[in-house]
Amino acid sequence: MKDQILTTTPLKMGHPSLRKHCQEVKDFKGVRNIGVFFKELIENNPWSGIAAPQLGINLQIVAFQYAPDVAERKGGTPLPPRVLINPVITPLSDETYDDWEACLSLPDLMGLVPRYTHIRFEGVDETGAPVSEEASGHLARIIQHECDHLQGILYPERMKDLTALIYRDQFQVWQEEYGLL
Ligand code: ZN
Repeated sequence: MKDQILTTTPLKMGHPSLRKHCQEVKDFKGVRNIGVFFKELIENNPWSGIAAPQLGINLQIVAFQYAPDVAERKGGTPLPPRVLINPVITPLSDETYDDWEACLSLPDLMGLVPRYTHIRFEGVDETGAPVSEEASGHLARIIQHECDHLQGILYPERMKDLTALIYRDQFQVWQEEYGLL
């Protein structure tokens, strides 16, 4: 953990921490506090998720949740905050769909991103217990987005068409011009 910073303000695009491939966690006990901290952080903020490199930590740890208000808008069952260490994502079909994403590391922006519709996510939780579950739709999108951070990938790199990378305050006029999605 030396020379790593711990901040509760997510780093912004351009910070080298966001471009790095994160290291696999070997000492699960040693990262338990980080997992608990991440969980509390998303519990206390209106965030769908956070990935370790966004807080300057070069380890394969993400936290995510499917908040009730988001689940109501996007469909599916809410999920309380979860921690996933050394995650592995496997698409369960070739099906993908486009939807809007935002990221704490690109404040004020949003973009239309293709993601797999159905995935399996595996890894270990903050107690060291193995995780192997399936997710669909917007929850699957959140998990793919967070796990991309661990490979140094930000959502614009997943976009097919960068003309759909817009400022959030332009969303309404964008939709009026190009239609609802
Ligand atoms: Zn993000």
